[in-house]
Amino acid sequence: MEKSYADVILDIRISQLDRPFSYRVPAHLQPELSVGDPVTVPFGKGNTLRKGFVIGFRDSVNMPPDAVKEIAGLAPKGVSAEEKTLELAAFLRRRYGGTFSQALKTVLPAKASVEKLTFRYIRANASREELISALGEAQRKKQRAKARLLEAVLEEEEIPYTWVTSKLGVSGQTVSGMERSGLLQVITTREYRNPVHLGEETEVRVTLNEQQRKAVDGILGDATEGRWEGRNRYLIHGVTGSGKTEVYMALIEEVIRHGRQAVFLIPEIALTYQTLLRFYRRFGNRVSVLHSGLSAGEKYDQCQRAIAGEIDVIIGPRSALFTPFPNVGIIILDEEHESSYKSENVPKYHAREVAEYLADAGGAALVLGSATPSVEVYAAACKGEYQLYRLTDRAGAGSLPRVEITDLREELAAGNRSIFGRRLQELLRDRMDRGEQSMLFLNRRGYAGFLSCRACGEALKCPHCDVTLSLHGTNMLQCHYCGYSMPRPKACPSCGSPYLMPFRAGTEQVEEKLKELLPGVRTLRMDRDTTSTKDAYEKILASFMNGEADVLIGTQMIVKGHDFPRVTLVGVLAADLSLSEGDYRSGERTFQLLTQAVGRAGRGELMGEAVIQTYRPDHYAVQMAASQDYEGFFRQEMDYRSMMDYPPAGHLLAIQVYGPNEKQTLGYAEELAAACRRSGSTCRVLGPAPGALARVRDLFRFVIYVKGKDTASLIAMRESLDPLIGPAHRGPEFVQFDFDPVNIL
Ligand code: ADP
Ligand code: ZN
Ligand code: ZN
Repeated sequence: MEKSYADVILDIRISQLDRPFSYRVPAHLQPELSVGDPVTVPFGKGNTLRKGFVIGFRDSVNMPPDAVKEIAGLAPKGVSAEEKTLELAAFLRRRYGGTFSQALKTVLPAKASVEKLTFRYIRANASREELISALGEAQRKKQRAKARLLEAVLEEEEIPYTWVTSKLGVSGQTVSGMERSGLLQVITTREYRNPVHLGEETEVRVTLNEQQRKAVDGILGDATEGRWEGRNRYLIHGVTGSGKTEVYMALIEEVIRHGRQAVFLIPEIALTYQTLLRFYRRFGNRVSVLHSGLSAGEKYDQCQRAIAGEIDVIIGPRSALFTPFPNVGIIILDEEHESSYKSENVPKYHAREVAEYLADAGGAALVLGSATPSVEVYAAACKGEYQLYRLTDRAGAGSLPRVEITDLREELAAGNRSIFGRRLQELLRDRMDRGEQSMLFLNRRGYAGFLSCRACGEALKCPHCDVTLSLHGTNMLQCHYCGYSMPRPKACPSCGSPYLMPFRAGTEQVEEKLKELLPGVRTLRMDRDTTSTKDAYEKILASFMNGEADVLIGTQMIVKGHDFPRVTLVGVLAADLSLSEGDYRSGERTFQLLTQAVGRAGRGELMGEAVIQTYRPDHYAVQMAASQDYEGFFRQEMDYRSMMDYPPAGHLLAIQVYGPNEKQTLGYAEELAAACRRSGSTCRVLGPAPGALARVRDLFRFVIYVKGKDTASLIAMRESLDPLIGPAHRGPEFVQFDFDPVNIL
């Protein structure tokens, strides 16, 4: 595009973004000027010179050219927080598409709320003896919530109110009841304090073991005076409990010693009270937390503290990346493989990619950690782009469980149509008799619209894309990548069996069947229905922890986070379900889920066992998860990705087109696909095909997939579409870009 005119904003408060001003770009500036650059421009009647920032270019303006003023010149580039923010926004917009204002809204600190902020804390209002005796009484009366709060109050001087309700699962009513009876007091302050206030207590330091030491020394050894130039990317591959967090904390400590700050990212669901306490014990009140339970005002307050230099460490979900620290020295992504690191909103950025950019730009280290690294990152580590450190042993208690695979096809052949195989039935009974706990995991993601054969285990696949076909309506099967479709067959094409049907079993049904199998069994169920309220998740976990049930039944939610020392049996009911999702990550997701699920057994002193039930016992994702063999899984998965050019062997760009009228939306999608094909790029263009959920909230959805060798050519392809979308496109349709999508679109 010609850079004849530039859109300039005069400051970056969001309210101004809708009103950028157009300026003519003088010829001598045209070659060098780019988005994000600071410029001086004449403004207002008196044409006073003011500093502004370029947020975009255009080749024409909707007013007489004479009325357009000219940019006076480049302003000196500084390193103001404002410019750093703009540069980051410009990066996001260039890399992921969308408008500049969407990019800026993503990176700007949350807006200040006008009202004065207040915070509520709970602290003890009675002596230690009185509290302990109240605790005993609450335990006798089985008042679990009350007991949990009393335990916390005995341990901590002050506890933030929101933590009590969200993390401890104690209702507001219970709190006020305890306040009335004189056990507690609720304090309201106007000043922010830390979620946890610690007394004189000091942490017990562990001595790092050899593998931990090697990682810490290796990473710090690449830095000069606390700065990383050149080699700065690391992957720590270590099972849960192998001591990754200790490594992170040692690194953070060193970074802080050099006057720099640390960003510690976690998937929100993995944020536990224990982890936070460890960070507070180590770094005191210079740690802060961002999570979805905070109000906009509280989030804003965290940003202000970061700008003012009051904190050194921020812990939070992917958005914590944008904390306006003056000088970040380390960014850590724990559980790096989690899909929550990818944004669902435009710009659909991946926290790892943004962290790579930020770390390179700021001379910082980027440390990723996982027990089951994503295929992308592990491949990068094999190429030496990430330095790999392994932690192979559990640092604390517990050992890996014994795993058995049950072939559900054999169960069917033997006349067992129950959802529990014979071995799992036996073990469930055994645990019940011994008074130990079990977890039943129904591998079921929100989406299960595919056909698979109950007799031979095969799922129907697209002949071109090697992914499972999805049901559309009741009688058509379709591929979401290329649009290939076929009518629903009556019998299995591989073995001729008529048992070819979508899998439909919910957690509720599992609970029902379990009660038939084991009369008197006490169950807890965790799924989308039982966790619809905010505290429900924590409450169910706490109640299971307290031994109020023999079996916890749930979807993927139960495999994350929390340790249950009394769980000695894990049953995976249908390992295949996630294998048959219609996208190229289904094998990886299955391996991760199964590995995590199996790892839930045997976290305490007792030996654990796990049973994986499946129609496809030979699939490598099932096999390798059962033997906890990450390397073996990675090799096979990489073979598949390479053969099909899926990431990281190749890259994918999904272009999603939404619109209210099916025909017009499809027409527009076809126009974009044709433009892609015409572009002369070496990328392959598939579709448009209807989206997995073709119609959402009255909008029709079509997806074009572009497959390319590298991300750069896909970015170029995206940029080449700019003239056809956004303001240039006058229809009601809109377009979103998603690079290497993590979910079926
Ligand atoms: P991860 O983050 O990999 O799950 P953690 O760092 O949480 O592992 O460590 C698991 C447990 O082992 C924690 O209770 C931790 O205090 C303990 N631990 C970690 N490293 C050591 C060590 N070197 N010596 C003793 N205990 C350790
Ligand atoms: Zn079959
Ligand atoms: Zn296909």
